[in-house]
Amino acid sequence: MAIATVNPATGATVQTFEAHDDAEVERRIAQADAAVAELRATTFAQRAQWAHATADILDAENEQVAQILTLEMGKPIGQARAEVSKCAAGLRFYADNAASFLADEPLEDPSSVNASSAFSRYQPLGVILAVMPWNYPLWQVVRFAAPALMAGNTGVLKHASNVPQTALYLDTLFARGGFPEGAFRTLLIGSRQVEAVIDDPRVKAVTLTGSEPAGQAVAARAGDRIKKSVLELGGSDPFIVMPSADLDAAVATAVKARTQNNGQSCIAGKRFIVHADVYDAFTEKFVAAMDALTLGDPADESTDVGPVATEGGRQDLIDLVEDAKQAGASILLGGNVPEGDGWFYPVTVVADLPEHARLVQEETFGPVASLYRVADREEALRIANQTTFGLSSAVWTQDDEEKAFFVDGIEAGGVFVNGMTVSYPELPFGGIKCSGYGRELAAAGIREFCNLKTVWVA
Ligand code: NDP
Repeated sequence: MAIATVNPATGATVQTFEAHDDAEVERRIAQADAAVAELRATTFAQRAQWAHATADILDAENEQVAQILTLEMGKPIGQARAEVSKCAAGLRFYADNAASFLADEPLEDPSSVNASSAFSRYQPLGVILAVMPWNYPLWQVVRFAAPALMAGNTGVLKHASNVPQTALYLDTLFARGGFPEGAFRTLLIGSRQVEAVIDDPRVKAVTLTGSEPAGQAVAARAGDRIKKSVLELGGSDPFIVMPSADLDAAVATAVKARTQNNGQSCIAGKRFIVHADVYDAFTEKFVAAMDALTLGDPADESTDVGPVATEGGRQDLIDLVEDAKQAGASILLGGNVPEGDGWFYPVTVVADLPEHARLVQEETFGPVASLYRVADREEALRIANQTTFGLSSAVWTQDDEEKAFFVDGIEAGGVFVNGMTVSYPELPFGGIKCSGYGRELAAAGIREFCNLKTVWVA
């Protein structure tokens, strides 16, 4: 895949970029490695000051950066601005909390291990490779970089090939905030150059957000080199609606959960599993609300849903919906590609899916919702858990017993009750099953790339 900015709203190639050659990759890894010692010599307070300064730069440049995100991957401009703000907030969160997340953890009774004192200490590992996707091209990177840098790790970024301008903005952002120049470097490389970076002995671990095949390839290589990996892969999150739910609120949230970021979010609600008692009412309101959304130019303030980021991504949606049609599903809304330039796909609602339809098992990375009618909570849980994914989930009910049933029974990294899944810096984020392993954000996220050193003193 060429490293290029292609405007998804028009399909036009805006700018292409030369990949870094081996010598440039070497230079940048060496810089990141040299910065490990520099960062380790700094205090949390110093790094926090730099992280705050970086957040201030993002706030000051919000509009300029938002325009790049919208140009490169097509998210509506208002959502791009919100993404930049979220990155600033994420940086400030780790600036303010890293020291307490990584404080020594003393054993209360050291005599139980025949010691005068015993404690655990979190120490940085060194250079971490981040392989990142285009869907939240700033946030996915910052949610790795903020905790990594605050812990004292340094980072090298292999960003998705379709967001090079975002990647180059990130290349200098942290140094402009005050971090040593090598603390964070972008490697402008294709995916075939990643193996050599993983193999490099100076690179200690890797984190990847993206598809299952990419995760498999990267984690296999890291495993072969006995290096830790964190994987945040796809999802096909269930969004369950039970009879006691506030239906209007559930519908409004379901629409947002499915269509934000043009439907290209790993934690989007994708499968709407609705109790038979409220299925018809929910469906009528949901289809009407989805139909009311404006599909169009993401740079236009009034657009709700822009194009899919890549031509290949749109083809995947076409194939999945055509397969559903062939299998006998009902298309309640959309389902036909509009005429014209760009990678637009209409807001689409599919119902009555037979078990063998690909949509039942596979992720839809675009504004396509699937509806399921269920007789009771047991059937809702069975369908919620029937995919190979396990990223997050949402449940709508006023019944406390039902809440406990789903919170306990859903196989996923998260359950959001009477709301939609959102990644908050304060809460751990990640999945199980084929959605990956390890956690980002919160205390768990900053500890993933630390050596938890046991200290025992006689
Ligand atoms: P990919 O997984 O292909 O891309 C994600 C990142 O991984 C990119 O930087 C990509 O680089 C890199 N990459 C891909 N293959 C390899 C490899 N073999 N070795 C090393 N690095 C690799 O995602 P796509 O853009 O192709 O999207 C396909 C599907 O992935 C989506 O439809 C969705 O299901 C899922 N996805 C999930 C995301 C999430 O947030 N969890 C985000 C994006 C996609 P390059 O761009 O150069 O190929």
